Amino acid sequence: MATIGVLALQGAVREHIRSIEACGAQAVEIKRTEQLDTIDGLILPGGESTTMRRLIDSYGFFDAIREFGEKGKPIFGTCAGLILMANEIENQDQAHLGLMDMKVARNAFGRQVASFEAELNIANVAEDFNAVFIRAPYIVETGSDVHVLAKYNERIVAAQQGHYICTAFHPELTDDNRFIAYFVAMVEQSIQTLAS
Ligand code: GLN
Repeated sequence: MATIGVLALQGAVREHIRSIEACGAQAVEIKRTEQLDTIDGLILPGGESTTMRRLIDSYGFFDAIREFGEKGKPIFGTCAGLILMANEIENQDQAHLGLMDMKVARNAFGRQVASFEAELNIANVAEDFNAVFIRAPYIVETGSDVHVLAKYNERIVAAQQGHYICTAFHPELTDDNRFIAYFVAMVEQSIQTLAS
């Protein structure tokens, strides 16, 4: 069985734990870097990316998460987690983890419509996915290795680059576990690949 960690420094942790378990995988809250050795995949949850980055630095997670990814282990970033994974952030000098070749815009749907839901067609996942957006970012540009999985109003809101995947919306906030199940399948696949 795949064991999936959720970075538990800040943000929507418990909802991801519930979704992972609903998909039949084991879920662990990750609070110390040593715990990364015990998991097969990692979720960077939604929350507030600047705060999360500060906590990542103070708990020594910056290099640890990058090394985890360099081993080929899957990482999934939702919302603030997507911002953390990008290698470029609009109107900001510095990016964070820089795991994915993409430029993102924060709070991109405007402060007036801070939160909304939309039905999305997500490649490989579902044609009718009810996506919950909360002060969401979107992906402005992607590099050639990045595969766009979903768009909303012509804006990219889900993408994958090899074993890295991200969504601007929160798939953990509804009972529709198909997106999390897709990530769990990626993790199970990587366990096979990394063992052979
Ligand atoms: N707007 C937040 C940020 O910039 C992300 C919001 C979310 O994760 N729901 O970090």
